[in-house]
Amino acid sequence: MEGGAENAGRILSGIFPPRAIDPDLVEAGRRLFAREAQFIASAAEPFALPPEQLPEIAFAGRSNVGKSSLVNALTGRRTLARTSNTPGRTRQINFFDLGARLILVDLPGYGYADAPKAAIKSWTGLVRHYLQTRAALRRVCLLLDSRHGIKEVDRPLMRMLDDSGVSYQVVLTKTDKAGAGDLGRVLEEITAELVVHVAAHPEIHLTSAVDCRGITELQETLGEFATPVENSR
Ligand code: GDP
Repeated sequence: MEGGAENAGRILSGIFPPRAIDPDLVEAGRRLFAREAQFIASAAEPFALPPEQLPEIAFAGRSNVGKSSLVNALTGRRTLARTSNTPGRTRQINFFDLGARLILVDLPGYGYADAPKAAIKSWTGLVRHYLQTRAALRRVCLLLDSRHGIKEVDRPLMRMLDDSGVSYQVVLTKTDKAGAGDLGRVLEEITAELVVHVAAHPEIHLTSAVDCRGITELQETLGEFATPVENSR
């Protein structure tokens, strides 16, 4: 069994600025993400979006940022990544039901160097429609590589989120690959930039799908958006 102090240190390491977490919420998040995550729908066009039935959390980031790996680490499964990376589905919005209490939404990765203009236009239209019209959407996790921080390719989405008034938070990926100095610099730069983004949550999550840093903390944060157990289907 882990000691209290050791546990507290581990819990704090995944959030910047560091804060204490209620162990009950940690346990609730762990239990939620231990539930079955089932693929429910894919949408390439606005009309194909599934009905809104549960609170939704969306994951966005440039391609290769580590989105599939992070969602897998959160849910402890490989199914989601496989589904979302299936040819033909990478340009779609994919929806997963987590234990009939929360919907995880995988937004298509952006920033392909060789993406045709028509594909970028279609991505932008679909994502903008989703962000602007989805009442069930509670939060967007904007994934950024912890070694690089915010890149020009991320800014159109950040502006879209600000314009749509959709609350979003930065989740750094691949922290196992970032040196402490670089990570400190990246955190400083992101914090300074987030101040001017009206819809951005100031807290930054630090994660790694390899050593599982920050997974517990993110489960706790996102778990708070789930439908309470007594209200779930
Ligand atoms: P996606 O395109 O955003 O879904 O990215 P993937 O999850 O497919 O990951 C892209 C690449 O980054 C793959 O080679 C992964 O193995 C690697 N990767 C993802 N997450 C991590 C991480 O936390 N640490 C390290 N070292 N590599 C990672």
